[in-house]
Amino acid sequence: MKVLSVNAGSSSLKFQMYEMPEEKVLISGVFERIGIHESFYTIKINGEKIRKEVDLPDHKVAFEYLVQELENNHVVESLDEIKGIGHRVVQGGAYFDKTEVATDDVIAKIEELNVLAPLHNPAAIIGIKAAKEVIPNAVQTTVFDTAFHQTMPEENYIYAVPYEWYTDYKVRRYGAHGTSHKYVANRMNELLGRDDTKIITCHIGNGASISAVVNGKCLDTSMGLTPNAGLIMGSRCGDMDATIVTYMMDQLGVSASEMDTILNKKSGVLGITGVSSDMRDIDDGVRSGNERCALAKKMYVRRIIDYIAKYYVEMNGCDAIVFTAGVGENSVSTRRQIMEGLEVLGVHVDEEANNIRGKEGKITTEDSSIPCYVIPTDEELMIARDTYELSK
Ligand code: AMP
Repeated sequence: MKVLSVNAGSSSLKFQMYEMPEEKVLISGVFERIGIHESFYTIKINGEKIRKEVDLPDHKVAFEYLVQELENNHVVESLDEIKGIGHRVVQGGAYFDKTEVATDDVIAKIEELNVLAPLHNPAAIIGIKAAKEVIPNAVQTTVFDTAFHQTMPEENYIYAVPYEWYTDYKVRRYGAHGTSHKYVANRMNELLGRDDTKIITCHIGNGASISAVVNGKCLDTSMGLTPNAGLIMGSRCGDMDATIVTYMMDQLGVSASEMDTILNKKSGVLGITGVSSDMRDIDDGVRSGNERCALAKKMYVRRIIDYIAKYYVEMNGCDAIVFTAGVGENSVSTRRQIMEGLEVLGVHVDEEANNIRGKEGKITTEDSSIPCYVIPTDEELMIARDTYELSK
């Protein structure tokens, strides 16, 4: 059975098609600059990468090109072979704790939550509607970034603000990256050979979050109402004194939406260094003696250690720590510094084993009290698995 994973952004559309249940990737690609001039798409098939410049006025046209490529490359002979299409949705609010079939009611609820994810949810709806038009016989599903975190207890998701903000305005912690945290936590349990585990999952990429996962269920997570909470990220500030926001709005005379842009796009590692939001550039800066890069790296690592320590205590112990996403999978020095900061818990880095990039492996010594692993994340596969279950 063929299943398509789709991740629609406001001007992009990423896709990956699988043969299920074998989980074999048949074709993948991305449409970029949809609705903007100079649009194009790239596809990967049989180890080959192809780029085409085409006019992409909207997502429906992107889906039409996608269908054309599937047929021209004989990935499918008929569109009826595509049984399921899974759509990534960033914000599912308190409505969704699992993947759902994209009924009109589900779409209406996603739309209602647009206010909490103004850039992402509308794009997902456009993607779902376009896919339904172009491939009408497939089961369309919605896979929520927030769903995995719905098992958090109340004390971990309520903010210490007037309670009416929660009841009347839906202000609470929802978390994000849930599909990734679930994927690596499940894989970690497979490696440990049991399900009754306490795992700390560190999804550290350009966006970054940490979760505490007990027996496969989320107990706590670092992102909040929006992704701008918890860790220091590429260009997001993460946790800070909330009053800085109103103080600096007064000082700078900026609007709420301008302040939102500063906190999401001009802060974090980029804000501290003024150099870049990319950890590779920060590492280069550290090597060449840039003091602000060194400071940013210290702060970045410190915050991750703080969260791991918090979740260790909250879970009353920890069976394994997982590193994933761009930095987690590839930055040997960041992982080493984090693990060195956990020495008081008996974590011991295996220098040689830690020298891996983009590959699964254990990176601590045998005598480490908590084993640490690198597990490359695969959100597309997780979307395909859920969609397969609802389509077969
Ligand atoms: P993601 O958001 O998961 O795609 O992660 C992207 C981020 O991973 C980039 O912005 C980099 O900061 C980071 N990254 C990727 N490769 C490396 C590397 N070799 N060393 C350090 N950071 C890396």
